[in-house]
Amino acid sequence: MEATTPEDNAKLILDRLRLNGLWEPAGLGLSYMKTGDRSLKLVQQEKNPTASQARIRMSILMKDIGWKVDESEVEMVDIEHLSPQERHMQEMMKRQEVAQNWPCPECVTPLAAFPLEEGVWKFEGEEDMELPTGDTEKVERWVVVIKCPVCDTSVPMEPYDYGLLAGDDAMVVYRANTISYTALSRPEIIDFIDNKLTDSLVITGTFCAFSGELLPPHVRGAVVVFSSIEEEE
Ligand SMILES: [Zn+2]
Repeated sequence: MEATTPEDNAKLILDRLRLNGLWEPAGLGLSYMKTGDRSLKLVQQEKNPTASQARIRMSILMKDIGWKVDESEVEMVDIEHLSPQERHMQEMMKRQEVAQNWPCPECVTPLAAFPLEEGVWKFEGEEDMELPTGDTEKVERWVVVIKCPVCDTSVPMEPYDYGLLAGDDAMVVYRANTISYTALSRPEIIDFIDNKLTDSLVITGTFCAFSGELLPPHVRGAVVVFSSIEEEE
């Protein structure tokens, strides 16, 4: 599994990438989309010499590892005049646009049409991540399992991809086994405290205070209101 050469590294990333998933190698100014088993499409390129050179290098690399790259419809983007925030916004919009087209692996229903708010967070254990220093660190691996409304297939998603697709609102509410948590923003916290709006306010740690189950990282260290989930018989 150890990725040693740029070729190995690229192969590993591309094999793991979902269909219609985006690959944006760091610092190159290029965005590729996976369009098939061994094919990619260059969808966007920044207008600068770094990206132009990288495009040539990447096309050689892709050929070497047996992947086809379609470069017939490349959108050239000029980001020189944009502020870092504007660049970030534009990137997020592009990623969200792409995510809207991800299909169910079985029946091609768009994942965007799934009942995303019913996604179930699942802890898959720890894995070693290599740091730039060469050391390794244990990181938790989580997936969010969503279910196809048409063919019932369960699709595990990377939390980042899930967030892209489901939007920020889906990340605010978390359903544990028996308790539903809703994270509060700073103004909401102030309103709740000043007006004594609730007795159901807690600060989360690593585990659910009620069931003891492990909470996903984005739910930890937050001020939340909780309510019990009605049992459905
Ligand atoms: Zn399906």
